[in-house]
Amino acid sequence: MLPVVALVGRPNVGKSTLFNRLTQSRDALVADFPGLTRDRQYGQGHYEDYKFVVVDTGGIHGKEEGLDLMMARQSLQAVDEADVVLFLVDAREGITAADEFIADYLRKQNKKIHLVVNKVDGIDGNAASADFFSLGLGELWQIAAAHGRGVTQLLQATLDPL
Ligand code: GDP
Ligand code: MG
Repeated sequence: MLPVVALVGRPNVGKSTLFNRLTQSRDALVADFPGLTRDRQYGQGHYEDYKFVVVDTGGIHGKEEGLDLMMARQSLQAVDEADVVLFLVDAREGITAADEFIADYLRKQNKKIHLVVNKVDGIDGNAASADFFSLGLGELWQIAAAHGRGVTQLLQATLDPL
């Protein structure tokens, strides 16, 4: 059995971009429109020497009030099925209410969670990441999914212990 890695986070943080990089496909819809990827999507991840199943999640239709509903459906199920969860946040936007909601949920799960600060290209990643420690998920990884920066290190931390 390959390990299952779920990508979770609010709309527009770059989940589908990371999914595409990990699966080297264009299957996931990457868009500037939040919530366009409406269903969970599975792919075979092969990145350098790593092999795994990766699950992209979407289905958030944009409004934070709707987040409860979304989390109760596709994304919750994806978290449940995963060996490890990558919780993505956006370095450029900082913490949002939706991030806090998701963090609260994830902290209660008995899962390996890695907090991933995406979009650190062209900005000071350490400065942009500092706020996210307050989500209470411990260590975090800085990446730029669109360019691949930090992805190998993230996979090492995620998959080597499994
Ligand atoms: P999702 O809703 O979480 O699946 O997010 P998407 O993967 O659809 O990406 C949302 C937007 O963020 C798109 O315009 C992407 O091009 C952009 N994006 C994703 N990753 C990066 C990154 O590493 N750096 C920058 N600057 N933009 C990114
Ligand atoms: Mg998406």
